[in-house]
Amino acid sequence: MGRNKCNPVRSCFAYDKTDDTSVCKLCNVKIQDNHATNLMKHCKASHPKEMHEITEKQETASSSNSKNTTVKQRKLEDLYNIKISTSEILLTNACTELVTVNGRPFSIMDDSGFGKIIEPIIKGLGMKTGLSSEQIKSLMSNEAQLIRKNISDCVKDKLISLKVDAVTRLDCSFLGINIQFVENSKIHLKTIGLVELKESHTGN
Ligand SMILES: [Zn+2]
Repeated sequence: MGRNKCNPVRSCFAYDKTDDTSVCKLCNVKIQDNHATNLMKHCKASHPKEMHEITEKQETASSSNSKNTTVKQRKLEDLYNIKISTSEILLTNACTELVTVNGRPFSIMDDSGFGKIIEPIIKGLGMKTGLSSEQIKSLMSNEAQLIRKNISDCVKDKLISLKVDAVTRLDCSFLGINIQFVENSKIHLKTIGLVELKESHTGN
């Protein structure tokens, strides 16, 4: 058990490191060392009124200390109501990212473990629908529909050139089909299709 350096009684003394003495600010009495118990003993005997205030301060300090200890002693299996910052869009986008950017299968949405993680969040957000694989699929399909519409609106009545590129990402080769068109004197490029190639395009 370490000595309590924050004991409020210390505020009543000036400690002199060189001769290891504490001088009482109230009566200038010199006390050997700066052990809180010795300082308290002096204050209790010579300054009972001031001591009363000090004890009160100490009680407040120790009660906040015991609060900290309670936090540390939380049991792992106990349930807590925690406060987090998230939104329906953030959660939905994160789930979509799992299957698009991170390449996880759609079935991850229906996994019991994943459900246990996101269900409290869904409940907390008061979302009307959960986030099943079917829901993510339909959200992605709606999003794709919007992108397609956006591209077709962009190129309507414009001259386009078709550009075919082969790319390798994470050991997978793809044939990318892009279209280029000019808008506001700038060349724009949009990918309209990606086909996975079974053989490497580098010919190795
Ligand atoms: Zn004193």
